[in-house]
Amino acid sequence: MKMKKYITIIILCLVIISCKESKKAVTPTEPGQPSVIDVTSLESNTKDVKKYTKTITANELQEMLYIYASDEFEGRDTGEPGQKKAVEYLKNKYKALEVAPGNNGDYFQKVPSTFFRQGSGIKDSENVLAFIEGSEKPEEVLVLSAHLDHVGMDAEGNVFNGADDDGSGTVALLEIAEAFKKAVKDGKGPKRSILFLHVTGEEKGLYGSRYYSENPVYPLANTIADLNIDMIGRNDDAHLEDNNYVYLIGSDKLSTDLHNISSAVNAKFFEINLDYRYNADSDPNRFYYRSDHYNFAKKNIPIIFYFNGVHDDYHQISDTPDKINYPLLEKRTQLVFATAWELANRKDRPVVDKAETSEEK
Ligand SMILES: [Zn+2]
Repeated sequence: MKMKKYITIIILCLVIISCKESKKAVTPTEPGQPSVIDVTSLESNTKDVKKYTKTITANELQEMLYIYASDEFEGRDTGEPGQKKAVEYLKNKYKALEVAPGNNGDYFQKVPSTFFRQGSGIKDSENVLAFIEGSEKPEEVLVLSAHLDHVGMDAEGNVFNGADDDGSGTVALLEIAEAFKKAVKDGKGPKRSILFLHVTGEEKGLYGSRYYSENPVYPLANTIADLNIDMIGRNDDAHLEDNNYVYLIGSDKLSTDLHNISSAVNAKFFEINLDYRYNADSDPNRFYYRSDHYNFAKKNIPIIFYFNGVHDDYHQISDTPDKINYPLLEKRTQLVFATAWELANRKDRPVVDKAETSEEK
């Protein structure tokens, strides 16, 4: 009688434990999302990822953003003097980091005025490209992108600083480049190549990224994915008190692999709340079509768009660096870095198993 009781208790315990375990492995996500997060599928060295992730700091991000989003850059309007200052700043940063130019010896890729809408008056402008060559599969390229431009100044001369849009993504790319470069110097550089692509003309209609996708420096067939960052420094109204979230858009649209890798990296290293509400095909905001990654998705290259949502300062002169949540910017930058590390180092590139079916043209 007693023995039976014990056995019953032991069985009960086992059932409870196994229930808990399976809960851990399967995290419910939005409808239509693959739900199994398998951290054992990750191939990169845990120690290395953690070591270089830690080099990405809120302080360094803040230091750079206070310069990049200062009045001196005059709102970085495409083709205007402020935008020229911005591209010079980026070029000098990459030089100082000893990260090579990405366009055949040049940091700039000229986007000519003729590429913009006729009559728009937009002058010649440039994308900024920096490149870390892969150690084993240098011909395969992972693109990390963010737009370098913003909307300039108003009639009274007030500067649109664009600290979040997209100063945050810009300095994130610089910090990620620095982390990869440190790894290279330690003999732990990425197996695939990484292109740091700062695009111009986003605010005018995604011009710089479209120009690159139509005039790629590295063959698109060998471009394994694009991780695009546009606004990751703020909290939106839906997450005013939540300092541990980011919206992910597009991760599952072309490649189940990419989505699974992305969620596994997050589960293993960060446990950030990945909010997929804007990933729904029916979402009226249509963010999937509204930043630079879309020009890669159109070419069947899998993408992830990292985004904090909109806020009252969006496209206002009040989008200033003092309003940035730097610890959260650090965390999100680290997530992009660790995801890039896994993609650049794993044996196989993410398989494209879904067709680009968007109706947007
Ligand atoms: Zn933007």
